[in-house]
Amino acid sequence: MLSEFDLIARYFTRPLQHAGRAVLGIGDDCALLAPAPGMQLAVSSDMLVEGRHFFPQADPAKLGHKSLAVNLSDLAAMGARPVAFTLALSLPEARSEWLAAFSGGLFMLADEHGCELIGGDTTRGPLNICITIFGELPPGQALRRDAARIGDDIWISGTLGDARLALAGYRQEIVIDTATIEAAAVRMHEPTPRVALGIALQGIAHAAIDISDGLIGDLGHILQRSNVGATLNVDALPAGSALTRLPQEMRRRFMLAGGDDYELCFTAPASGREAILAAAHTAAIPVTRVGSIEAAAGLRLTDAGGAPLDLRLNSFDHFTSP
Ligand code: ADP
Ligand code: MG
Repeated sequence: MLSEFDLIARYFTRPLQHAGRAVLGIGDDCALLAPAPGMQLAVSSDMLVEGRHFFPQADPAKLGHKSLAVNLSDLAAMGARPVAFTLALSLPEARSEWLAAFSGGLFMLADEHGCELIGGDTTRGPLNICITIFGELPPGQALRRDAARIGDDIWISGTLGDARLALAGYRQEIVIDTATIEAAAVRMHEPTPRVALGIALQGIAHAAIDISDGLIGDLGHILQRSNVGATLNVDALPAGSALTRLPQEMRRRFMLAGGDDYELCFTAPASGREAILAAAHTAAIPVTRVGSIEAAAGLRLTDAGGAPLDLRLNSFDHFTSP
């Protein structure tokens, strides 16, 4: 049986990989970071709990990827560049095979983003993975939730709804072939954080959030914090490729109130449209304009012709959702 220290040494300790990201990594009481002169630190934590965020028996390599991806997504939503992260891990048992696959998936994504693992904590207990991530950005450039302005366009990156479709398939809420579920499940198990887009939107976008609990709820946070309302053209929403086979009602519901999308929803002035398309091109992520920020409070849903839609939808909440 691996000891706690063998486990950390074998699966999580590497020489510092990314020049200049950290001064001191794993092995001391604290890690040391030296933010670039004049930059602000952006800090966020996200926890994944077995049975809540992922199924027991989940593929450990994908779990390693997703644990970091959801944290990188928070940095993306702020427009911050990833620097480093810590990993607090609670494990029922120290299984080499599981740990090798988990750390492999984790480091693969970390290296894609030049993000250094600098420390953490390891304990025995129910499977629970908590990452704290550190990013940096110039002062005043963060894409804050409270920065949407009346007249802004609302934009979405990538596509929505496929992760929710995969969940519906697993739960047998819908009858659909296994190949479609598997295609959609890539979005659920291996989300791609939109880090390059977030950074490219610095100085162009006003407000941003990453869509983890469903578009309606997450856009709602921007509206509430910015003290504005919005109209959303539901027919303009970019649907995931697997969703095209579903009936309209379900397609709309999965895009508006699905969750686990990890796309960015952001607002920007109409004068920035060309700059946004250029940023999306640089980041190689498509973006779609789906609505506008308005003075009247609340969120209004319309079809492509502007006719109001009365859809009753809720976003995910850990304490009130089933
Ligand atoms: P402490 O006694 O200060 O809590 P630990 O003995 O828990 O320190 O950890 C020893 C070193 O290993 C520390 O530098 C800590 O940050 C690091 N560490 C512990 N667990 C992990 C982990 N899961 N991933 C990365 N680093 C870890
Ligand atoms: Mg410790």
